[in-house]
Amino acid sequence: MDRFKFIKGKDFNELPKTPGVYAFFVKNLKFKIKNLKLECIYIGKAINIQNRVKNHFFQPSYRDNLFISKVEKIGYFETNSEIEALVLEANLIKKHQPKFNVIWKDDKNYFYVAFVKNNLGTPYVFITHQPKLHPKPYTLNPVYIGPFVEGTALKKTLRFLRKVFPYYSAKNHPKTKCTYCHLDLCPGPEPDLKEYKKNIKKLILILQGKRSAVLNSLKKEMKKLSKKNKFEKAGETRDKIYNLQQVMSHTHVIDQQNTGVSENRAIAYFSRILGLEKDIKKIECYDISNIQGKQATGSMVVFIDGKPDKSQYKKFKIKLGDTPNDIAMLKEILERRFSHKEWTYPDAILIDGGKAQLNAGINQKSEYRNPKQVQNIKILSLAKENKELFIEGREKPVLLKSLPKEIYNLVLQLDSEAHRFAINYHKKLRKKNLLQ
Ligand SMILES: [Zn+2]
Repeated sequence: MDRFKFIKGKDFNELPKTPGVYAFFVKNLKFKIKNLKLECIYIGKAINIQNRVKNHFFQPSYRDNLFISKVEKIGYFETNSEIEALVLEANLIKKHQPKFNVIWKDDKNYFYVAFVKNNLGTPYVFITHQPKLHPKPYTLNPVYIGPFVEGTALKKTLRFLRKVFPYYSAKNHPKTKCTYCHLDLCPGPEPDLKEYKKNIKKLILILQGKRSAVLNSLKKEMKKLSKKNKFEKAGETRDKIYNLQQVMSHTHVIDQQNTGVSENRAIAYFSRILGLEKDIKKIECYDISNIQGKQATGSMVVFIDGKPDKSQYKKFKIKLGDTPNDIAMLKEILERRFSHKEWTYPDAILIDGGKAQLNAGINQKSEYRNPKQVQNIKILSLAKENKELFIEGREKPVLLKSLPKEIYNLVLQLDSEAHRFAINYHKKLRKKNLLQ
């Protein structure tokens, strides 16, 4: 199953827009035969391979930036569905141990499906982070399949598969029917053990990416059963084949970008670093642009929940004379902003600069006893040269790259958005002046 297709160089448009798995390769320096040895450094899955790979290159995250420039070859595998991609990704990561998958996820973050036998020899199935620690008391040949990257998608997949192949999820079954029994997800208190073990074997094969082997074997069983005139059983098997095909072509298992959860966690973490009690929601970012201090303009961009909200952007024509003093201009803009009670106050304000700019912001803020909300705003400043973030109330700046990649990206995006917006406004003003 390990035959990647490769695209020529970085011709991304060659990549299919289907679900599947992609892999990035670098030349392996240990083998000095030119172009022959490639080392797989990252494997990922996608609903749309082409879009996902383009994202890595054109909107690289902090993590991507660590290796994306070294990538020499891009390989991919098309699959029929997201579930297949999920399963294939797990199997390929296990096989290749790509460096940048391993670095970012230690074992504890991966998910494994465990098949562990109880004292009656009937396996039960569960998800675990620790494949080696489990097979303690009653086990005979425990099987662990993984590593799976996403827990939620894996849980959903198992829930679907359990309808086709009912299994036990607890070590011991009560003598009466359990909740899962009533949902047809459990083989019940008196299972046909032979049948059950067959089902488990098939489930394992599916999770190992051997879907067609399972379908073929089910088809054979069905034929055998009808030859023996066991039509009811044959009918059940036919339903199983149909259901399995349905499950494997399921399209809404894996979330588009699977960033939702981790983004929230990153924002919570960042909010704690800033010393905020609740999670940061609204951030404003300011930029000043001018030509040698003349026609100075300021701009304010607004991000809500990490996304720009253009309807709240504001522009300021600086009224101070034509003296090019950054700090004075910044103070003027902040003063004007703070006086606008009708614009909801943000949780944090990001300004361009270092300690001096940070202090200017803090001073400006302290002049506003009223309304009280102004006092709750955290002032931050970004010193771009060293990518340092100064935070109100913290002695030393925080290195941007020490923050979660979502926050790293957010801060840089805020800054560049403010800059873009300021320059646009400035161009418009200049045009107007020329026309007058
Ligand atoms: Zn049960």
